[in-house]
Amino acid sequence: MSATSDALRDLHTLHQRARAIRDRLQSGPKTLAARTAALAARTADLEKARKVLQDAKVGIKKNEHALQASQAKIDDLKVKLNLVKKNEEYKALQNQIAHDTTAMGKYEDQVLQGYETIEAQGAEFAKAEAEVKAFSDEVDALKKTIADLAVAQKAQLAELEAAIVGAEDSIPIDQREQYRRVVRQLGADALAPVEGGACVGCYTAVTTQMLNELINRDALTFCKSCGRLLYLADSEADSSRNPEKPKPKPRARAKT
Ligand SMILES: [Zn+2]
Repeated sequence: MSATSDALRDLHTLHQRARAIRDRLQSGPKTLAARTAALAARTADLEKARKVLQDAKVGIKKNEHALQASQAKIDDLKVKLNLVKKNEEYKALQNQIAHDTTAMGKYEDQVLQGYETIEAQGAEFAKAEAEVKAFSDEVDALKKTIADLAVAQKAQLAELEAAIVGAEDSIPIDQREQYRRVVRQLGADALAPVEGGACVGCYTAVTTQMLNELINRDALTFCKSCGRLLYLADSEADSSRNPEKPKPKPRARAKT
């Protein structure tokens, strides 16, 4: 097999397909990591909300105890009220009862407000909790999908890598090292078609001599500007076979 433009074009396509799969293999875990981080943030928010709700419940309990204590104290004072003989003491007790009744009213209000607050907060919390649960399920499903896809993608990649090795047979042995060096540097961009008399990789015009080399295919031709391994694009190969066709860049299409 020789390094015809067709063979190099196929090799380039294989490199590009392998890169596309490698990109997808990397993008899956990146997406998953972003979703997992978002889930962790929402779970942390939910735990904060849970704490706020718990604190509010503890606050209600405290006010309820205070309310009961006030009630007990008032009951106690009322018993004493019936026992006192002196008018002064009676008045003092009455004042104390009035004072404690006011305090008890405040506790009552606070307890009622507390229940209203936790009812609203509780409903909001339940909603947030359900949302986080759904999000968590979504992330689990995504994780599974990505893992399943990765299995298929790795198999595809192995096939493509084998196909690349096969297609590399067309690279002359004495130029393989140069080819490998460019592949190490540029990956799937190691090859570039020549179109309109220029390397598509860097848009530098190729010389007449290079174009002749590309047409005659004695050896591989590398772009002098970007180092890419060049091959003729389909359109270019056609016009080189049909020299009568009008050419936008005659110097690039010279044929000897
Ligand atoms: Zn170039």
